[in-house]
Amino acid sequence: MEESQNQNSVANLNQVKDSIAKAFAKFNLRQKNVSVVVVSKTRSSHEIEPLLRSNHLIFGENKVQEAKQKWLPLREKYKNIELHLIGHLQTNKIKDAVSVFDVIETLDNEKLAIALKEELVAQNKIAMPLFIQVNIGEEKQKSGILPRETSDFVKFCTKELSLNIVGLMCIPPANELSSPFFLLMQKIAKSNKIKYLSMGMSNDYINGALMGASHVRIGTAIFGERGIA
Ligand SMILES: *Cc1c(COP(=O)(O)O)cnc(C)c1O
Repeated sequence: MEESQNQNSVANLNQVKDSIAKAFAKFNLRQKNVSVVVVSKTRSSHEIEPLLRSNHLIFGENKVQEAKQKWLPLREKYKNIELHLIGHLQTNKIKDAVSVFDVIETLDNEKLAIALKEELVAQNKIAMPLFIQVNIGEEKQKSGILPRETSDFVKFCTKELSLNIVGLMCIPPANELSSPFFLLMQKIAKSNKIKYLSMGMSNDYINGALMGASHVRIGTAIFGERGIA
């Protein structure tokens, strides 16, 4: 039972990649390189390892403590893992976040940027690739920089702090068509000369990919439904 589920995650990942390729082919578009960030929050090492053994190396976690416990041992065993922080980062967790993650996708305010810079310098990791989270639907309950403030925030991070801003990330409003938000993300990235876009989850990753995502973040479509965490 356990084993067949594990094999499923690898098959599911291949199916996700295949669906992306087919969508590009269907519209006669040349496929861009789309990285699948496998979202392993709430999943055990046991569930994750078949993917690592199949040589998938890019994963996302939303909690610093959980990631630390799970991934420090996995890193001993598997090399070249690329771990993305995709959840909100609190200032008091920066130290652990910088030591555990390879990419932080949720930079979303000036205070955090300043504290992050300090910690990156302290840990000699100033070149760490960072994404700015954009609150693309301007929702009160979501974190992220507002679309109209993104340009100034990018300048602040790159010019004032010399942070390595490589991408923008968003979680569009639930229960709305995500494509218009993805298109707006593409426009904001282009006008700020930002290379990567992290957008699209299990229910809308094909749209994300078609609208210019370089990274899609997928949990459920690979591991199945999460229990109530
Ligand atoms: C959980 C999570 C995902 C993955 O969502 P699924 O619907 O399980 O694919 C993607 N991005 C973020 C920020 C998440 O917290």
